[in-house]
Formats: sequence, structure tokens, C-alpha cells
Amino acid sequence: MPSTMRAMQLDAAKRLLTLRMIDTPVPGDHQLLVKVAACGVCRTDLHVIDGELPNPKPHVVPGHEVVGTVAARAPGVSAFSIGDRVGVPWLGWTCGECEYCRTGRENLCDKATFTGYHLDGGYAEFAVANAAFAFPLPEGLGDTETAPLLCAGMIGYRALVATGPAERLGIYGFGAAGHIVAQLARHQGRRVFAFTRPGDAPAKQFALDLGAVWAGDADTDPPEPLDAAIIFAPVGLLVPAALKVVVKGGTVVCAGIHMSDIPPLPYQLLWGERVVRSVANLTRRDGEEFLALAPTIPVRAAVQPFPLADANEALRRLREGELRGAAVLTV
Ligand SMILES: [Zn+2]
Ligand SMILES: [Zn+2]
Repeated sequence: MPSTMRAMQLDAAKRLLTLRMIDTPVPGDHQLLVKVAACGVCRTDLHVIDGELPNPKPHVVPGHEVVGTVAARAPGVSAFSIGDRVGVPWLGWTCGECEYCRTGRENLCDKATFTGYHLDGGYAEFAVANAAFAFPLPEGLGDTETAPLLCAGMIGYRALVATGPAERLGIYGFGAAGHIVAQLARHQGRRVFAFTRPGDAPAKQFALDLGAVWAGDADTDPPEPLDAAIIFAPVGLLVPAALKVVVKGGTVVCAGIHMSDIPPLPYQLLWGERVVRSVANLTRRDGEEFLALAPTIPVRAAVQPFPLADANEALRRLREGELRGAAVLTV
């Protein structure tokens, strides 16, 4: 094992990441050392970098869509073997003892720690992960194509489940998560209505290519009412916009970890038993269910690879809406 490795670190909020050589981490109790092959770039990384998620680990290495192989194990870890392909998601650890953890809602654990935020993540050549929170990965899909499944896919899946049996599904923000959820939704016989940034013609075409029945600007009305909507864009203005186009009893799911303020809204928009809810993090069960489902469809993530050293450029393009699908760092 090399004693040092390349890593992209966040030194302070709102700064560019810095590429440097740091000590290769050593797995602690119950942990794996993962040799990183690819790491997806998620909007949550921007929220960490911009300081919208407070108190990250000092000099944190971002990245929570980590695909690699097991390079070392702490004594006693038996869940994986050296060389196994492994995925490390956002949920890095939970207490296992609180009311949330004991009732199948570990995603809400107050003591939870998250990869690439409280724990160093995958923008590096190696990362440590708690073995109980890492996933064995299905074969048949390359490392780069697998990376976005570990957050965009898993949390998108949780958001889709939260819409219930909605047949006409709106998706606001057709990026990494949106384009994966569209594939799941189509497979389940739902019809997808894609809402993009006003004027973003390539994003609309991308949605139509993936089987959306309609694609339009986020501030326009779809051709028919919707049964539910998922908002992936971090824009609070979209909550009243989505409520306006869902039918009575419909659900609007806010799937991002951070959103600008939701403006005051007339009660009439919520009336009729419409529901606004968020989806927070993921449980290990979400991940297991999604990783079992994805190859049967099969889900194909559209990816734009970048070398590790170009992480800042990948993040810039995500921020500017210049990506089709998901950016993935190759290591
Ligand atoms: Zn807990
Ligand atoms: Zn994420």
C-alpha cells in the first residue's frame, strides 16, 4: 500500500478544492480501506463546499458515490474480501440504538455521519469506509457508470417510492438523479413529465430521449395534471409551482438536502390533501433494494468522466447546469 495518496481537499467554505498528497488512511475498527476507481460528483458536494451544510470535517475529502475495490480490512471484518468490488454511499454510519435506527429509519439518526462531509470521501485514491455501510456491487456495469447509482440512484429511488403509485410523475431538475429516476419510473409504467431550467433545450431533449412524454420549462404548466412530482433542483420556488400542477391527494417530494427558501403560498395550493414532504439521506435497505432493481431494468447512467485533478471543473459544470447526466471522477 502506498503511504501517501492524491486527494482533493476542501480547506474552507466557498474555496476551490486543493489537490495534494496526504497520508493514505488506515482502516479503524469495523472499517475497510477502499482503492477508489471512480467517484460521482453530486449536488450535495456543492452544498458542502458552499458551506450550506455546516461544520464539515476540517480539510474534508468530498465524494460519496465511491466505487472501488477492497484493499485492506480491519481485523474482524468478514463481510468483504480483499479485491471485492464495493460501493460507499452518503450514509457513512449510524448509532444503531436510537428510536430512528431501531425502527427502520436510520436515515434520520441524529448521530449519523456522512461520507464526504463528516468522513473523508472518494475524491482521492483511497478511502476508508465502515464495512456495515458499504455495498457489494452488481457485476456487468463499469465503475464509472456505477458511481451515480450510489447517491443519485439510491436517493432518487427513495424519492420515487415516496410518490406512491403516481402514474403521471413530474421531475423538476433533470440531472444525475432525475435521469435515473425517469428510467425506473418508465419501467414501472409511469409517465414522466420533465421540468428543466427555462430555455435549456438540450436538457429537454435529454429527457425526451430517456422516454419522458413531455419536457418543458419549470415555470410552465404540463399538458395534463400530474399525480406527483419530485423536485431535485435546490430551488424553493418550485414547491408552489409543483403543488399547482399536482392533483388533489398528490405528493410533492423535495429530494435535495438543501433548498432555497420556499416562498409563502396560498393555502389553496395545499388544500385538497396535497402533501409536501422531503426525503432525507438513505437507509441501507434503500440501497440494497435499488442495487437489486437497477440491473433488471437495466438502469443506464449517462456519465461525463473527469480526471480526479479536474474535480473543480466538474463541480463548476454541475453548478452551471452544463452536464448531461452525472459527472464522475476517474481515479
Ligand atoms: Zn441512531
Ligand atoms: Zn449525493
